Amino acid sequence: MEFDRAGMNALMDIVARPELVFVRGEGSWLEDHTGKRYLDFIQGWAVNSLGHCPPEVRRAMEAQAGQLINPSPAYFNAPSMELARRITSASCFDRVFFANSGAEANEGAIKLARKWGRLNRNGAYKIITMDHGFHGRTLATMSASGKAGWDTMFAPQVPGFPKAVLNDLESVKALIDAETVAVMLEPVQGEGGVLPATQEFMQGLRKLTEEEGILFIVDEVQTGFGRTGSMFAYQQYGIEPDIMTLGKGIGGGVPLAALCAREAVSCFAYGEQGGTYNGNPVMTAVGVAVFDALMADGFLESVQARGRQLSEGLLELGAKWGFKGERGAGLLRALILDGDDGAAIVQTAMARTPEGLLLNSPRPNLLRFMPALNVSEEEISLMLAHLDEAITKVRG
Ligand SMILES: *Cc1c(COP(=O)(O)O)cnc(C)c1O
Repeated sequence: MEFDRAGMNALMDIVARPELVFVRGEGSWLEDHTGKRYLDFIQGWAVNSLGHCPPEVRRAMEAQAGQLINPSPAYFNAPSMELARRITSASCFDRVFFANSGAEANEGAIKLARKWGRLNRNGAYKIITMDHGFHGRTLATMSASGKAGWDTMFAPQVPGFPKAVLNDLESVKALIDAETVAVMLEPVQGEGGVLPATQEFMQGLRKLTEEEGILFIVDEVQTGFGRTGSMFAYQQYGIEPDIMTLGKGIGGGVPLAALCAREAVSCFAYGEQGGTYNGNPVMTAVGVAVFDALMADGFLESVQARGRQLSEGLLELGAKWGFKGERGAGLLRALILDGDDGAAIVQTAMARTPEGLLLNSPRPNLLRFMPALNVSEEEISLMLAHLDEAITKVRG
């Protein structure tokens, strides 16, 4: 197949992309327009929880598309109710609102917290978020994110997101005032470089927010739905938040996200929240299929086992090259390099022949790994071998 240059030029040029087109995917493998295969440890940015084109997801989409695609969000549909029931039964939350993207779910969380603040805390509206956090690309979620410059890039943006330091409880305490309504963070900062919140910090935050009478919001868009080895990452901290958002993995590759809240916090009045495609049956039917696959006997245990394998393999590789170690949770992991050649390693791994390897470098000194949750033991070993080879080429 020829590369479609006219097609490329018809798309908005918003990010540097390699001149290749992916045409096919299966499990942990992608194939480009020339027929070259790639071992994929990006998986659509931790989105394809069951790999490319998993049979469960295809079956669910086909069956639902043949039955009902969209009755309108003004009516109930069965798959959205089934998925909401599954999520509430597997978590500490009582109510779910489905959205189309992580940013939209987080917008919903911000609106819900502000509404709750109006009802319960004299109009308090500020939400404390973390330096280097990532919550999305809408105006409000860019302000909520802790990337340098993101709160002013499209100024005037949404105010009310003071920034604390991850794993520093005092830095959160110092920001709380009468106008504070919530604290919001990722249990593991994904885009920020795979930085896990500590047990002490999460437990301290739960205690602090309770004492102060403010809400605790976890953004599990990247960590939720099995990514860290439990259904939701908050469950590994022995705490129960008030609001949680989901995205990415919940849809197994299709646009699906969710805003989850405890009953006492679910305070939207009619007309305050909605959206044309929200909770549509095709996407939520996929969510049900993904949920059931993750909850099948032994699945999450295998995510944990593969996570340990990946962690040990990265540690070994890091030791061999004198790198600075690895970190993460479950199958969301990072290798910390001793130099800023992450992008070069990514490029070399991709260009490798006959088979390429797809990796991500969210920071110059870091490689991030987000394989399918059903990645095999052999595929992880193969990735480690290819990576070692790519590093040899770059460093050699
Ligand atoms: C990806 C991500 C988002 C944004 O999700 P989109 O679907 O891209 O809008 C929000 N929060 C976290 C933690 C993410 O990783």
